[in-house]
Amino acid sequence: MDDMLLGSRNKRGDWKPNRKNEIAPIWQFPWKGSAILGFLKGYLFPWNITWFATAVFMWFVVVPDASTMKTLAPGWIGLIFLCNCAAALILYGSVELRLYVKRAQGNKFKYNGQFPGDKKSDVFWFKSQAIEGALRTFLTAVPIWTAYEVLLLWSYANGFGHWTTLQDHPYLLVLVWALIPLWHETHWYMGHRFLHLPFFYKHVHSIHHNSVNPSPWSSLSMHPVEQMMFFSAALIHLVVPSHPILAMYSLMFSGLGAIVGHIGYEKIETKSDGAAIDTHAYTHYLHHKYFEVNYGDALIPLDKIFGTWHDGTEAGDEALDARMEKKRKRINS
Ligand SMILES: [Zn+2]
Ligand SMILES: [Zn+2]
Repeated sequence: MDDMLLGSRNKRGDWKPNRKNEIAPIWQFPWKGSAILGFLKGYLFPWNITWFATAVFMWFVVVPDASTMKTLAPGWIGLIFLCNCAAALILYGSVELRLYVKRAQGNKFKYNGQFPGDKKSDVFWFKSQAIEGALRTFLTAVPIWTAYEVLLLWSYANGFGHWTTLQDHPYLLVLVWALIPLWHETHWYMGHRFLHLPFFYKHVHSIHHNSVNPSPWSSLSMHPVEQMMFFSAALIHLVVPSHPILAMYSLMFSGLGAIVGHIGYEKIETKSDGAAIDTHAYTHYLHHKYFEVNYGDALIPLDKIFGTWHDGTEAGDEALDARMEKKRKRINS
């Protein structure tokens, strides 16, 4: 597939889609049938269904029975930790290997024409965005993710929370399952705005933003405080009626789903005949590029409501410039 049919490339080699970056079609009225169907397909495939399938696999194959999880013990906790490490390694490692090491599709559909690996930078451990990202993933992100998972499974085993089964409350559990991405969007929009307050940005969130040109290992490359906030979305399963598979889905949504905004490409080609996966990465790519826009992923139009939306166009650039100018005047007055 020729990427110039769907976008344009500037002198620096940065590719930009012709399409305007849009909020989810469910918020665009009047509803258009084809757009809604396309949205529903994109809501599930390929990402969310993969995170859910991973949670189902973990529940049936890795997670022990409730009587074992009543007690915190290194055996079952260690196994879950190793499986989470494996899931992160397979997902982030394979996408990084294909797109950024082997560069299988070059810079076709790549938003930023440069590859982070070509530019060593002192802001990163060992001067490498990928090495620091991988180290932060395995040293703190996966341990924090696993700690939340153990807390939720231990709570389930000991009867803390409102756990139920598909037999007892099928519609309720399907509803909770369907709403999980919307909850994550709301939770992270709030947490992310908080992290952009000057003190927290300087001491916590700036680590994530060192990846101005994000790549897969940037996804969980965060300060541990940010990782604790990021994975805390799953605690809602102690409050709402839920099932442990849904709690694990929530954690997979954070732990694996973080890749979505950090792929750096509009499409991943899967076959030489032009078949490709839409990544949905553009909204968050613009956040890494411009910092004070797109705190959320437009599943709920919170950025539009709060005036921080960037649609990727020149009009979006102008709106950002005007907002920054207003902010400067306010600070200097
Ligand atoms: Zn990011
Ligand atoms: Zn940010």
